[in-house]
Amino acid sequence: MFAAHLAAGLAIKAAQPKAPTWAILVGAFLPDLLWIGFASAGVEPTQSTTFFDGWSHSVASIIVQAVVFGSCFHRYGRPVMIAVGLAVLSHLPLDALVHPKPLELWPHASPVIGLADWSWGQTALALRKSRYWWLQLAITLPLLAIYWRASRRQLPMNIIGASSLVVLGLHLVF
Ligand SMILES: [Zn+2]
Repeated sequence: MFAAHLAAGLAIKAAQPKAPTWAILVGAFLPDLLWIGFASAGVEPTQSTTFFDGWSHSVASIIVQAVVFGSCFHRYGRPVMIAVGLAVLSHLPLDALVHPKPLELWPHASPVIGLADWSWGQTALALRKSRYWWLQLAITLPLLAIYWRASRRQLPMNIIGASSLVVLGLHLVF
C-alpha cells in the first residue's frame, strides 16, 4: 500500500503543518522501513511459506513505534508529537486491509486482524486490475482529497498537484 501510506502521510501533514514533512512520511512508512531492515537481517523471513513480520508489523509493535517515534518530536510540542504518532498508526488499518498475511496482535501471537486469504484481493476486476488495486485506489483518493482541502491555503497549487500525481503514479506502478 505504498500510495495509500503516502497519501495518509500527506493528509496528516496538511492537517498539522508544523510537523516536519520528513517525520510524517518516515512515520507513515516506519513499519515497512523496519521490515526492510529485519528482512535483510533474516529476522523476518519473506518467503511465502515462512513469511513472518510480527516484529515490524504486529499491532503492538506499530503502537510502540508510534509512541517512540512520536516522542522523538517532543520539542515541537504535543500536537506535532501526536501527528507523527498518528502517521505511524495510520500504517495499521491500511496494512490490515492489504497485507500478505494477517497482522498479529503481538509478535508470534495467535490472534490476528486482517484477511487470512491473500488470494481474495488478487482476484482481477475491471481493467484487469486486482481487487486490492481498486481497494487501495478507493482509499487513496479520499486521503488525497483531504490533503487538497487542508493544504490549499498553505501550499502552492503546483506543489499540491505534483505531490498528488506522485502518489497516483506510485499507485499505477505498484
Ligand atoms: Zn507495511
